[in-house]
Amino acid sequence: MYLILLGPPGTGKGTQAKLLAERFGLAHVATGDMFRSAVREGTELGRQAKLYMDRGDLVPDELTIAMLVERIGRPDAAKGVVLDGYPRTLQQAQALSKALEGAGKVEDAALLIDASDEEIVSRLSQRWLCGNCGEIYHEEHRPPKEAGICDACGGELSQRADDRPEVVQNRLAAQRPPAELLAYYRARGKLAEVDGEQEMAAVTADLVAAIEAATVAQGA
Ligand code: AMP
Repeated sequence: MYLILLGPPGTGKGTQAKLLAERFGLAHVATGDMFRSAVREGTELGRQAKLYMDRGDLVPDELTIAMLVERIGRPDAAKGVVLDGYPRTLQQAQALSKALEGAGKVEDAALLIDASDEEIVSRLSQRWLCGNCGEIYHEEHRPPKEAGICDACGGELSQRADDRPEVVQNRLAAQRPPAELLAYYRARGKLAEVDGEQEMAAVTADLVAAIEAATVAQGA
């Protein structure tokens, strides 16, 4: 099964993607996480990606597509994948379809988790991440038991550099899914929309219902 999570940053895509990957036994592929680890490792890809990430801009398609196609060809992705943060452009969506087609596969559903700009700015500016295990917290809605410490692993929590308010504004302007990307999946009958301002569990339930509807429709 190949699932695509779309939506502006800060709608809980990452959290939902992890839950869906576990539930359906799929690999979780997050291009943002892949770029961040390339930056940490100091690879050539990381050095190039950092220039764009620091400004809240998209990394160019050719770098992103090559990284993604290589990733979904690895053995742990053979059963299927939840894509989180990819595609973000029409070109990326077309490249994904081509790569899947080449392997005799197809996208099952593109799920748009949406929320207003106001809600997103509030969420991102109060978001804290564990540097060790990646767990995500929110100062108001999901505070850790002890400030600055991860409940799950005891790691240190920090804010992402690109969650600063001035960068968030640019990320929103540059990174809301473009209309042509949504139109691409709508035209293929794959697009489902979920209200990302609901409680996390309600968002998960809506996503699961949309995935089940999509796989039943395909006779999978
Ligand atoms: P994210 O964690 O998904 O918010 O991604 C963090 C940053 O990585 C983004 O602000 C972009 O600079 C870059 N990035 C992640 N995924 C993509 C993508 N599919 N296309 C282009 N840039 C991306």
